[in-house]
Amino acid sequence: MAVPFSVIAKKLKIEGPRLRRALRHLEIKGLDPKADFFKKEVAQEIIQALLPKKKAPIKVKKMEGEKKTKKDKEEVLLPSSVRVKDLAGLLKIPVTDLLKKLLKEGVSANLNQSLDFETASLIAEDFGKKVGLLEDEAKEEEEVVERGEPRPPIVVILGHVDHGKTSLLDYIRKTKVAQRESGGITQHIGSYQAEIDSEGERRQITFIDTPGHEAFSKLRSLGAKVTDLAVLVVAADDGVKPQTVEAIDHAKSAGIPIVVAVNKIDKKGADPEKVKKELAENGLLPEEWGGTTPLVEISAKTGKNIDELLELIVLTADLSDIQARYEGMGEGVVIESHIERGKGSVASIICRQGQFKKGDIVVAGGAWGRIKRIENERKEVKEKLLPSEPALVFGFKSLPRPGSKVRVVKGEKEAKDRAEAWEREMRERGFAQSLYSKVRGEKILPIVLKADVQGSLESLMSSLEKLKSDKVKVKVVHSGVGNISESDIYLALASSALILGFRVKSDLAAQRLAEQRQVKILTFDVIYDLLNELEKILADISAPKEKEVKTGEAEVIKLFKGGKVQILGAQLKKSLIKVGDKVKIFRDNKAIGMGEVKSLKILTKDKKEIKEIGAKFGLGLESKTTVKIGDRIVAFAIEKKI
Ligand code: GDP
Repeated sequence: MAVPFSVIAKKLKIEGPRLRRALRHLEIKGLDPKADFFKKEVAQEIIQALLPKKKAPIKVKKMEGEKKTKKDKEEVLLPSSVRVKDLAGLLKIPVTDLLKKLLKEGVSANLNQSLDFETASLIAEDFGKKVGLLEDEAKEEEEVVERGEPRPPIVVILGHVDHGKTSLLDYIRKTKVAQRESGGITQHIGSYQAEIDSEGERRQITFIDTPGHEAFSKLRSLGAKVTDLAVLVVAADDGVKPQTVEAIDHAKSAGIPIVVAVNKIDKKGADPEKVKKELAENGLLPEEWGGTTPLVEISAKTGKNIDELLELIVLTADLSDIQARYEGMGEGVVIESHIERGKGSVASIICRQGQFKKGDIVVAGGAWGRIKRIENERKEVKEKLLPSEPALVFGFKSLPRPGSKVRVVKGEKEAKDRAEAWEREMRERGFAQSLYSKVRGEKILPIVLKADVQGSLESLMSSLEKLKSDKVKVKVVHSGVGNISESDIYLALASSALILGFRVKSDLAAQRLAEQRQVKILTFDVIYDLLNELEKILADISAPKEKEVKTGEAEVIKLFKGGKVQILGAQLKKSLIKVGDKVKIFRDNKAIGMGEVKSLKILTKDKKEIKEIGAKFGLGLESKTTVKIGDRIVAFAIEKKI
């Protein structure tokens, strides 16, 4: 029985022309890429080959404005953790008032102490504010993909120095960027869009204009997702080199597919087969060898097979199902920024969702502003910026940092709040916070490992792999021989990693950057010391955190006797109260003191616990706070939480 082409396309949810292109790249016995019907076995193989691999679940984010907001309350956005003095600033109240309030709630805190979101929001609400959670922009989390239409892929070019990254970008820019009447590119905007004709369909690819993994990881170091795909350039006459391996690690840590361009095949001494072997040894098995890495042999000098490379990029991107919402408020990434005389701060950005328009209020990290003008690479004014399009944006009040997320917000107030919160968080972000990432409930400690020689690197790697606590896993995101460089710091930043050095030093620039961005570097001369320290860190990360949980509640209905232990009449309102319970005393919904349950009685009979809701009972309460009728006695327990 033959299976029609259209049925396969439907099953794979791929449009016809794209499926056609995909078929051309498949090596399946008996497959005619131009056929309209396929044998059942062939069809099954096609589907198996092209069915997107298991992907992270797509989270649909609530659109802003979806939640109804009360007009009468001012909204403050709080990060997941906030220092006392910063919270006072956010709530616009004197710090002393906040400290008093906290004490009343039974929290004795100092100025620099961090409060969790729950505590901070309770306090904020008591001060008449409406509270929202500020997203943690610092970690590159699974991107919130909003379904929409396919958008062009955003591509970065990586590879060893002198392997031809710049030449490739130049060649594509010269030959594939639409030349309109006004001429070609007249200004650098950090990235450009190439246009290709793929089986009668015009397709765009956005290239980040600065090649190399140093620039790439710098972009990623603030946590924004920047690119969808990496082209790894490897010179056919030189093969896989240390920076090629670094580049592979960077792309893998970003979780993006890699397309390999074996370059300089025009050169004498080019040996693409040797390159493929070396790639396979480094975890990139070419498709033609039964692996999953798309590979094409090119020359950035003569232009040979560049069309094929571009086609392969589009095809690989199609299989990753890159989509974006085309309407609504824009979200993107700042690629570069600079001050232009007379025009102020200028940022080159790439849009990833929605639209950016003149007049929009935007915030990017700690910088914000109103968009005064959007310009393309030909210095033409653009009305709006759509997904995957790059442009220069004028109007920021200060310089946004490259790599920060940029987004359109509802108004100046939100922009200022977000910018301030971001600045605060950057100041505050410490070692403990950035030391591990949580993936599906499992804690992972990412590590960048540098050692003096290959031998010690290998023995360290195998010791590290064995080392894990029950709750935390160690994951080496990059390892290499040589001193700790800026590039290592950026990778550590991008993946929240700890840097371990064995018999190596840090470059001066790396040291400075690590201090600035609070990246933890630990160096050792003895393997035993390194493993010991790491074990301590793992134990520390897996130590349970304490959290208060409410276990019961009663209302004071009578006062019998004062003193160190007050004797009260009470009525049980919620769950259960036991002798020995630690309690908080609330008056008018505010905690006014703490205490402990010393005795419980029903009539004259001593009880260990009271659990019938509505029961009236006598309660002996040890507390410094004198209670009144109407006060609520809330029992709580400390729960350990991983
Ligand atoms: P990058 O450091 O990776 O950006 O490398 P470049 O693009 O600067 O290229 C390094 C050198 O290799 C330059 O002299 C280029 O002209 C040369 N080159 C780049 N691509 C090719 C190629 O395909 N064939 C030949 N023969 N030379 C190339």
